[in-house]
Amino acid sequence: MIVRSLKQGLMKFSRIAWAVVLATGFISCSEREKPDDGKLRIVTTTTMVTDLVKVIGGDRMEIQGLMGAGIDPHSYVPKLGDTALLEKADIIFYSGLHLEGRLQATLEAMEKRGRNVIAVSDGVSPDNLLSPQEGFEGTKDPHFWGDPLMWAEAIAPVVEALAKADPAGAEIYQKRGEAYQKELTDLSTWAAEQVAQIPAERKVLVTSHDAFFYFGRAFGFDVRGLQGVSTAAEAGLQDRSKLVEYLKNQGVPTVFPESSINAKGISAVAAEAGVKVSEESLFSDALGQPGDLETVDGETYDQGTYLGMIKHNVNAIVKGLK
Ligand SMILES: [Zn+2]
Repeated sequence: MIVRSLKQGLMKFSRIAWAVVLATGFISCSEREKPDDGKLRIVTTTTMVTDLVKVIGGDRMEIQGLMGAGIDPHSYVPKLGDTALLEKADIIFYSGLHLEGRLQATLEAMEKRGRNVIAVSDGVSPDNLLSPQEGFEGTKDPHFWGDPLMWAEAIAPVVEALAKADPAGAEIYQKRGEAYQKELTDLSTWAAEQVAQIPAERKVLVTSHDAFFYFGRAFGFDVRGLQGVSTAAEAGLQDRSKLVEYLKNQGVPTVFPESSINAKGISAVAAEAGVKVSEESLFSDALGQPGDLETVDGETYDQGTYLGMIKHNVNAIVKGLK
């Protein structure tokens, strides 16, 4: 009898201890279970961040992205399995600047209790960040990957964190980072050449939400979104009629839906203003499916990569506006 109650007591204690572990995340890095192959476990949030870490980390680690293709990071609510994945990770990379609206508080809390949590936007020079319009005072526009040269600034925090966690691979990460920096610089040059085909008065980019201000600043577009900088707020009637008016006045030929947002809103505005809706959705806050190839002008690219995302967007915009 005594033995049995002792056993029950122990079981009860271990349940309580486990609950404390779950609540506080009180497991240190070394105690965390490693995969059999001894590789680092990396967890990433958006598809752009996942792609960046894969480019630099490659096959030296296990990389698990929480968000898939077409997923809107502003409204992403953590799934049941996400907490377990995050708790097991050696490093967590996220985009930051409140892009991951519903996840950012969780990530910041984990960082406070000593977990290795990195916002890749920390690599971006604060002077280059844009302040969004009304309603978002005190925050910065999170969509900095719209400009390939700004996305290149996110390479350094990834290289640094991976080199620190895996010093044996430091030289490899450094080299891959430098090579990718060059690819992004070339991508930016290519994009500038492509958009030069669009007449200056038609360089107007109207999309579902305000995700393209950095892209617009980099490549000379006047940018308007139906919804604001976060998709969390619905467009009001006033925003809508303003946008319809703008489309009519500017003689914009085409507006663009986005792959991670329902196209209903922007299509209704286009119909009201009497302008075309592009058959091609733009990738704004999520990449395409990995391995989803597209060929334009004899060049094939994977829309599930950041390089493919920008190529697809530029080609779609040139086609719609030139
Ligand atoms: Zn967005």
